[in-house]
Amino acid sequence: MPVDPRAILQQTFGFSDFRGVQARVIDRVLAGQRTLAVMPTGAGKSLCYQLPAVALPGTCIVISPLIALMHDQLRAATAIGIRAAALTSADDNRAETIARFRAGELDLLYAAPERASGESFRALLQQAPVALFAIDEAHCVSEWGHDFRPDYRLLRPLLDAFPAVPRLALTATADAHTRADILVQLGLPDDGLIVAGFDRPNIRYAISPRQGTTQQIAGLLRDHPGPGIVYAQTRSGTEKLAAALAATGRPVRPYHAGLDPAVRARNQADFVASEDMVMVATVAFGMGIDKPDVRFVAHAGLPKSIEAYYQETGRAGRDGDPAVAHLFWGAEDFARARQRIAEVEPDRQGSERARLDALGALVETAGCRRRILLRHFGEEPGERCGNCDNCLNPPAAIDATQVARKFLSAVFRTGQMFGTGYLHDLLVGKSNERSLMNGHEGLSVFGIVGDDEAPLVRPVARALLLRDALRANPHGGLEFGPEARAILKGEATVSLIVPPKRERSRRRGGAA
Ligand code: ADP
Ligand code: ZN
Repeated sequence: MPVDPRAILQQTFGFSDFRGVQARVIDRVLAGQRTLAVMPTGAGKSLCYQLPAVALPGTCIVISPLIALMHDQLRAATAIGIRAAALTSADDNRAETIARFRAGELDLLYAAPERASGESFRALLQQAPVALFAIDEAHCVSEWGHDFRPDYRLLRPLLDAFPAVPRLALTATADAHTRADILVQLGLPDDGLIVAGFDRPNIRYAISPRQGTTQQIAGLLRDHPGPGIVYAQTRSGTEKLAAALAATGRPVRPYHAGLDPAVRARNQADFVASEDMVMVATVAFGMGIDKPDVRFVAHAGLPKSIEAYYQETGRAGRDGDPAVAHLFWGAEDFARARQRIAEVEPDRQGSERARLDALGALVETAGCRRRILLRHFGEEPGERCGNCDNCLNPPAAIDATQVARKFLSAVFRTGQMFGTGYLHDLLVGKSNERSLMNGHEGLSVFGIVGDDEAPLVRPVARALLLRDALRANPHGGLEFGPEARAILKGEATVSLIVPPKRERSRRRGGAA
């Protein structure tokens, strides 16, 4: 009996049509081919293996890295009548699941890679027909990916033990390098790569330096009355920001892994049901949450990578209506990330640094943000998208090389141990007790920056930190980084992006 995917789509899933690349991916799977599907979050990856699981005889084995994720999907699949189970340490019905698999009564069987790669799991799979191997979050197999899981590497012998069973690897987050690596690691052909469009045209991207984060995000809340997510970097940061934002009168909840599970579950359920709630969360929040009407996602600090940024901002506007993603960053985010990189194993530092540089290019650009994002995912979009901060309000770039050289010179002459505030006062010639005591008021750099240049001093310090011409020591003192030399010698210039005034951006935004 030939299977009709469209009939299953309508009868089992209740959808009238396939979306994007789903039909192409499913055709390949049903034809027994090996495939890597790179599809952004929300594009409907699960359907790509769930539908074949229903259509094909035998069980589809789904490898997934997180028990929570598995159970979310399990619930959703069971709810529409798909026969599914998971084999994890958290499931106490394992004996029953094994019996159901043996009897051919399961469409889907979820397992984590550490279990799936074991001897006993392989022996089990030999006892009943396997329809398909679906490897979810497949970027975990690559050291180039941002989320390497050594256990994923152990899956290959299992897959190779069933050479006739089709393989479907799925991921939302893979740059060109990672993709190529996934193909090799999982034994997939080059022509098995299917990439869905990454553009989310209804999301407006905006990126600004931090200047009083709470106030900036409170402004965002005022402009966007719908539900929103604010990502903070630490658990305590989450709690503090949530408390501060509650003063705006909006319902605000915190969410992080340190909260009592019952509180966490309640906050999440309330958020999903709400039409105006703001969730202040660590990146632990968002995976597997189905809330299409999130109107804004704010980052109170730098995300881990462009992939992480894309995934986190991608939780906004899944209903297709306009939504906003606003990132607030500080130079210290980059300094901290560099320190972390210095602590990882030497052979991983190169890829980590490349990841950070890609983020640097995104926040520093005076050009289109969306273009940088999409190019990162291998697409070649136009010069301007018309729906990011830089396209809507092109910033002016000014040459700040002179101020940068004065700043570096002040860093050097004071012994590379003072912070931005101290150096600023010194450069503009503002006398204080500390500089008097240190004898710094006699230096040639004292008061060398005039009134017209004074507002540039702090942005210049930020730019120098970002491009590694300056590094912050653990006490906040600034010292030279490898890029300082070229600037001092006149071989490199420093230009600053001058963001347009907020008022102006509002008026233009309103007219657009
Ligand atoms: P991903 O895993 O790629 O992030 P999901 O598989 O969770 O995405 O699907 C995202 C949402 O899209 C889900 O609510 C799902 O039910 C819905 N969806 C998937 N495919 C279709 C389709 N063909 N038509 C309508 N809705 C779909
Ligand atoms: Zn743009």
